[in-house]
Amino acid sequence: PGPQLPHDPSKKTIVILGSGWGATSLLKTLDTTEYNVVVISPKNYFLFTPLLPSVALGTLSPRSILQPTRYLARHKSREVRVIEAEAKSVDPINKTVTFEDDSEIKGQTAHTTIPYDYLVYAVGAEVQTFGIPGVQEKACFMKEMADAEKMQRRFKDCIETAGFPGQSDSEIDRLLHVVVVGGGPTGIEVSGEIHDFLEDDLKSWYPELAGRVRISLVEALPSVLPMFSKQLIDYTESTFKASKIQVLTKTMVKEIKDDAVVLQMPDKSIQEVPCGMVVWAGGNKGRKITQDLMAQFPSVQTNRRGITVDDHLRMVGVPSSSIFAIGDCTSTSYAPTAQVASQQGAYLARVFTQIAKRDKLEGKLKELEDKKAMTLKEEEKTALVGEEEGVKGQIAKLKLRPFHYSHQGSLAYIGSDKAIADLPFLNGNIATGGVTTYLFWRSAYLSTLFSLRNRVLVANDWLITKIFGRDLSRD
Ligand code: FAD
Ligand code: NAD
Repeated sequence: PGPQLPHDPSKKTIVILGSGWGATSLLKTLDTTEYNVVVISPKNYFLFTPLLPSVALGTLSPRSILQPTRYLARHKSREVRVIEAEAKSVDPINKTVTFEDDSEIKGQTAHTTIPYDYLVYAVGAEVQTFGIPGVQEKACFMKEMADAEKMQRRFKDCIETAGFPGQSDSEIDRLLHVVVVGGGPTGIEVSGEIHDFLEDDLKSWYPELAGRVRISLVEALPSVLPMFSKQLIDYTESTFKASKIQVLTKTMVKEIKDDAVVLQMPDKSIQEVPCGMVVWAGGNKGRKITQDLMAQFPSVQTNRRGITVDDHLRMVGVPSSSIFAIGDCTSTSYAPTAQVASQQGAYLARVFTQIAKRDKLEGKLKELEDKKAMTLKEEEKTALVGEEEGVKGQIAKLKLRPFHYSHQGSLAYIGSDKAIADLPFLNGNIATGGVTTYLFWRSAYLSTLFSLRNRVLVANDWLITKIFGRDLSRD
């Protein structure tokens, strides 16, 4: 019946759903000696999201920011099973998870259910479209690798189509107008990267068209980047102004059409703006599987932003604390960021070490109790009681500390070799921007990239782009 799950009946089974920031950080630090570990994810890799916009414009190649999960799993002390499949449902009462092979090639078995002792729920979030007409079908997203590849193909197509002989002036202007929706960090970074591509490459290779490319960033709120300080917001807005990126705040996208975007302007008037493509970076929304799981605990799981967890990241309402939830699928007081998800993953690894220790001690206690029940000699009984007290003391000391998030600062690339950083040093926030910050941004990302292999690949891509420019071919 094919390879079995690593089932050692004497050990508990942890099933991890996802291979993103939270899951990968957990897997990296988890001591697998005491557990059967199974990772289930529709992607058999970890995606380094902060550099995804760089892939969308060809600054980096896709492979450089992907790390196969098996590379990590292979180095663990006991076998970790990695299964490329999408979890479809969780039964928190019977402690099982059902998953399916959703890939193109399917075998005779493509759907199964397995039990778990502990489930780590780290499936992330999907793109929030607010049900706005046309967004799902017509916009490009910036969440998965496939989104970045699609955006790259479409942008290059717009440019080549604009160069088609006999194209009218108005059509050229439409095709070369890129609208980015969402002034959060994703929208800002995408706009910055498009601008770099324009300056560094398009001006050389498409001199007749480059001057006509326009980038508009649309944000419903009064300012972009609400999570950054006022000073950095101003710095970003003035950099964008100098880069000729039009920033439209208090402006809301109402519909996306094939050849235009419909905007509600600050004065509430409606305008239809022609454009060649729209990149949608409107934020996060819970996945269907997450909503279904939460719906099983309707009295406590009521937060629309995601799963409510306690101080120890246990899903509230679940019997016997068997589900832990981390990252973007949860609703906590922290922002849905890679930083938070990875710290939560590392914290859970420590929790599992503690649980394993506690389980061992409880097993020892049980042995001592059984032994005590069998013995008739008072002296031996007294000794066993003493030993029992010792073990109980050790168990009592194994207090699980609550999760504590330590904010290392926020960084965002804004194009033109500039980045902004809010760094919590000493007692205050140090806000900084400019070329030095950009260099810091690059080295910070290089050092946080998970494997040496990825670091080398990314550094190499940066060098190649600097020397030869970005690749213009469209596949
Ligand atoms: P993810 O990393 O999204 O991982 C979810 C995993 O679950 C994926 O492997 C997915 O394939 C898998 N999955 C999905 N559905 C299922 C299912 N049904 N069953 C099993 N597995 C499933 N944050 C920062 O702190 N700094 C940054 O610079 C930064 N830059 C970003 C840039 C971009 C373009 C984007 C989109 C996000 C960025 N973020 C950044 C946010 C950060 O990526 C997320 O907060 C982080 O990915 C959350 O981690 P996660 O583990 O919860 O989810
Ligand atoms: P976000 O939620 O931060 O921003 C989405 C923006 O889109 C909001 O400001 C919202 O007002 C706007 N919006 C939504 N619908 C709109 C509409 N119809 N018209 C106009 N504007 C609309 O989303 P994000 O930028 O994708 O970020 C998601 C998470 O990932 C955040 O927590 C963010 O901090 C994190 N992230 C961090 C970095 C970084 O640190 N460099 C980079 C990317 C993402």
